[in-house]
Amino acid sequence: MLYRDLAAFFERLEGTPGRLGMTAILVELLAKVQPGEMTAVVRLLQGAVAPDWEGLEVGLAEKQILKALAMAQGSSTKSAEALTALQTLYHETGDLGLAAEAVVAKSQQRQTSLFGASELTVAAAFAGIQAIARTTGTGSQEAKQRLLSKLLLDASALEARYLTRMVAGRLRLGVADMTFLDALAAWRLGRGVRSVTDMEDAERAEQEALRAELERAYDLRSDLAVVADALASGGLDAVAQLGVAYGTPVRPMAAERLKTLGEILTKMEGRVAMEYKYDGLRIQAHVSPSASAPGGTEVRLFSRRLEELTAQFPDVVADLKTAFAGQSFIAEGEAIALDKEGRMRPFQDVSRRRGRKTDLDAVAKEIPITLFLFDLLADSSGSTMAKPLVERRERLARLVGTLHDRIRVSTLEEATDEKGMEMFFDKAVEEGAEGIMCKDPRAPYKAGSRGFAWVKFKTDYTEALVDTLDLVAIGAFYGRGRRAGWYGAILMAAYDDTAGVWRSVCKLGTGFDDATLETLKPRFEPHLSAARPANVDSEMEPDVWFQPAIVMEVQAAELTLSPIHRAAWGQLKPGAGLAARFPRFTRWRDDKKALQATTVKEVVRLYETKG
Ligand code: AMP
Repeated sequence: MLYRDLAAFFERLEGTPGRLGMTAILVELLAKVQPGEMTAVVRLLQGAVAPDWEGLEVGLAEKQILKALAMAQGSSTKSAEALTALQTLYHETGDLGLAAEAVVAKSQQRQTSLFGASELTVAAAFAGIQAIARTTGTGSQEAKQRLLSKLLLDASALEARYLTRMVAGRLRLGVADMTFLDALAAWRLGRGVRSVTDMEDAERAEQEALRAELERAYDLRSDLAVVADALASGGLDAVAQLGVAYGTPVRPMAAERLKTLGEILTKMEGRVAMEYKYDGLRIQAHVSPSASAPGGTEVRLFSRRLEELTAQFPDVVADLKTAFAGQSFIAEGEAIALDKEGRMRPFQDVSRRRGRKTDLDAVAKEIPITLFLFDLLADSSGSTMAKPLVERRERLARLVGTLHDRIRVSTLEEATDEKGMEMFFDKAVEEGAEGIMCKDPRAPYKAGSRGFAWVKFKTDYTEALVDTLDLVAIGAFYGRGRRAGWYGAILMAAYDDTAGVWRSVCKLGTGFDDATLETLKPRFEPHLSAARPANVDSEMEPDVWFQPAIVMEVQAAELTLSPIHRAAWGQLKPGAGLAARFPRFTRWRDDKKALQATTVKEVVRLYETKG
């Protein structure tokens, strides 16, 4: 497949907001993919050289991308001219891709006869981008720049738009992972794309079974390319073979929320397993015998966003290696800093480790981490995810024992009445937990899904009318007066996971101290968007738009019907959506992706249950 054909699909996807429309385009695209090309196509579509945990990034600064583009224009006079034009256009549009496209279009107009159409294949484009990413060390920026300008040499205007966005890490076609899985299923069945409500029963059942199988594999491998490649090369049998793998993170199970302990008890049919809700950093630990060093033990740690954390927690890695030499299992837990008296320290203490590259040993000494394991996903017998929680916990407790000071099992108790739940909640809060997690003792571990098998219940729920929401920033308003030149308020949205769209919920202007206000602009800069992204729904027009990427915790006084905000629009009342009133910023949730933010469904439920 030629890259220019892929770019044409990208352009169509960009102009299509609805999930069904996107699915239809993707099915057409999948039909054109040649054997062996699937991984390249999926990665290019997702705008990532490799899955998150591999940590491989293109690593080219914007300045270098602009220079590479200019260089590709040929002679030094032309390239100097192109660089000035590019800088101006980039400044005006805020979009490297559009700037590149315009400059290439202009130069090709002048010399169409000299240029044949680009014959860059998808495989070559992907290999070229991988080569750029793998170039490291001194002088690598220049080397990367040269590689990119070679890739761009014969690029058409549209190819330049997408190649540039890809290397800048800003492709963002808005294709949700679930939409891609829909497309894979429809492509495989070969019946075209229709809404499930328009299908015959048997047809729907077949589609849903296939879709569920694809999602199962995706939840275990967290990589669309692996699933798509298995389906393309070995059919359903190959997909069925995909199971948990050491060194590849499983998509984490997530919790729902309910307002009262009584509701939780009813939902879990009178029997609840309760654990402390530790306010730390979620870690998925993969422990296995080392493949490279016989007799050694390999440990890899992953975050809830599926990034590798191994290097940031050398102390936890060492503790796990000592405690579990030669064993193999995958477990999840919360990493917490404890003070000298053994009390839990706040989340910020642990979060100082994230993204840190230096001084880790010193930080590890200053703030030692204790890992409270709460679930077991696999052990030497294979995956344990289908087993009920109680059995997974029994195995976990046996595995961990009581010998290790800094590797422990989370505190758990069962209750069959509200009184027991209240007592456990009080004890948890007293000991420094932020609340409790209530879990259905009979439920399996459902990778990648949020459901009522886990329900969180936090201290803030017990204060009247106060809820915390993890919302996504979609735009900003410039400040006035003392805040002139800074962003004064951020437009926040909840995630509509049915449509794959972020819908506005509030304008957030309080809770920021001056130091935070000063850092808002640089923090959001990489996510600026020239116009409202297609997967964002907002009536309110901010001064600048963002791609949905950054999650912030917001505390609101209450949820109200609103004629302005778009979450759950028309669902509770015609012409109204839901808004968070008197929102206040409480903290950054860098551990969450935009897809893991509070959903519109959760907001509706909170509104309905608040009293
Ligand atoms: P939230 O971040 O509020 O959506 O709550 C879910 C998170 O709570 C999980 O992703 C974990 O990081 C954290 N957590 C703390 N303690 C537990 C526990 N005992 N079981 C499961 N998750 C826990």
